[in-house]
Amino acid sequence: MLEEASCPCGSEKSYAQCCGVFHQGGGASTPELLMRSRYTAFVKGNIRYLQETWHPSTRPPLDLDGNPEWVKLQILESWQRNTKGYVHFRAFYQEQGVLQMMEEKSKFVYENGCWFYVEPENLKL
Ligand SMILES: [Zn+2]
Repeated sequence: MLEEASCPCGSEKSYAQCCGVFHQGGGASTPELLMRSRYTAFVKGNIRYLQETWHPSTRPPLDLDGNPEWVKLQILESWQRNTKGYVHFRAFYQEQGVLQMMEEKSKFVYENGCWFYVEPENLKL
């Protein structure tokens, strides 16, 4: 069971020392750190951060009206080379009391000194 002070992304650190750093404007240095901080932004309803870290070419109009109650994040694999990266993850959430899971392999790109989320990759490679 997680202590209240630990970061929602599942790291051992506190929010302030983990995803909070990125939410305050410190750029995430790897796709995995960005993925974690974006998950935590969903948990905290931080739309501004989600928009800022979503690549302009794929960014949808964003609202969190249907944002479920997020339970935990599980990183299965992350990978980066030069300006491209991928993170394969599972995110668990509660909907009407039922535990649900989404699984995605997300594509990230490094541009102008920052990592951006681009889009999900098809899992059937
Ligand atoms: Zn975190």
